[in-house]
Amino acid sequence: MQCPFCREIDRDRVIDSRPTDSGRSIRRRRLCEACKRRFTTRERIDETVRMSVIKKDGTRVAFDRTKMLAGLQRACWKRPVSEDALNRLVDEVEELVFREFEREVPSSFIGRELAKRLAGLDKVSYVRFASVTENFQVVEDFVETARQIEERARHEAPGQQELFP
Ligand SMILES: [Zn+2]
Repeated sequence: MQCPFCREIDRDRVIDSRPTDSGRSIRRRRLCEACKRRFTTRERIDETVRMSVIKKDGTRVAFDRTKMLAGLQRACWKRPVSEDALNRLVDEVEELVFREFEREVPSSFIGRELAKRLAGLDKVSYVRFASVTENFQVVEDFVETARQIEERARHEAPGQQELFP
């Protein structure tokens, strides 16, 4: 492995391994002997690409956890939410998707499950996320405090103003 911090190759050793996603993948915690920093890798079976996501317009795209993660990262921009926490959140939802669905999963299910968990991590990120995934029902549940959160988000994230027109 190449260390993501110092770019040394094969200087790492595995300090922890555990199966995730019902054994469909393995998460390994690695320590780089060169710079002494830690990073995480995941090995997964390629069959995950055979899960399709049904989008709102009825089209289907391959299930892709990197898209889930990217969506969360955007929502958590400048918020105190760690990369590790987001990875765990995506692990959980991915595991749920493969447990509950055979071949196809509605994008609304993924959006709702991600949003629900994100709400437990950070309210501001949650509202941003729920808004951009058009998960308005979830946002409505939250309408009591949404105004205050919007005010705060506006100061912290210029360009997010269009979320609550
Ligand atoms: Zn290193």
